[in-house]
Amino acid sequence: MMTPPLPENAPRRTGLYPGSFDPITRGHLDIIARAADRLCDRLVVSVAVSEQKKPLFSLQERLDMVRAEVDRLTPASGCAITVRAFDSLLIHHAAEMGARMIIRGLRAVSDFEYEFQMTGMNARLNPQVETVFLMASEKHQFISSRFVKEICALGGDIGSFVPPDVARRLREKLGGAAA
Ligand code: ADP
Repeated sequence: MMTPPLPENAPRRTGLYPGSFDPITRGHLDIIARAADRLCDRLVVSVAVSEQKKPLFSLQERLDMVRAEVDRLTPASGCAITVRAFDSLLIHHAAEMGARMIIRGLRAVSDFEYEFQMTGMNARLNPQVETVFLMASEKHQFISSRFVKEICALGGDIGSFVPPDVARRLREKLGGAAA
């Protein structure tokens, strides 16, 4: 039986995927694609200023990379993906964007403690916003922006962790062997 179409006035589900994206990896992109295809009608990918984390890439560079990669995605669902910067409290930013869902990716056990606390605090701050976790795909489970930077700085091949343009930008910044 064919799935009946959603009624015209079906609520628009807006999701917000926040992160430092320093830089965006294939792991992040997988979460974006899955959230866009399966969960959201509208997805806002929000790049945190994250000054305290002393990012390798400037906010503008991180935004440019995220935008360029997101532009290559064509969600079958027709989900509209936008990319923004934010410097405010995440839960306030989510409300400003009209998001009812904060999307986070979860890798093995390493992310759990931090994500668990953040989710609990955010739920207290605004119980109307639900945090939704997508498990990292098996293929991308081990990818982290931090290790990609370290591997690149030491001349390792980062081609399977980040898209080609991001790899090029990393090599420009950190040196390292061309793929
Ligand atoms: P933050 O500074 O908020 O942790 P990150 O850019 O490191 O920002 O990560 C953003 C989100 O993406 C987090 O929920 C993180 O757990 C998730 N994430 C990072 N790498 C991966 C990956 N390889 N697969 C799935 N999710 C990931």
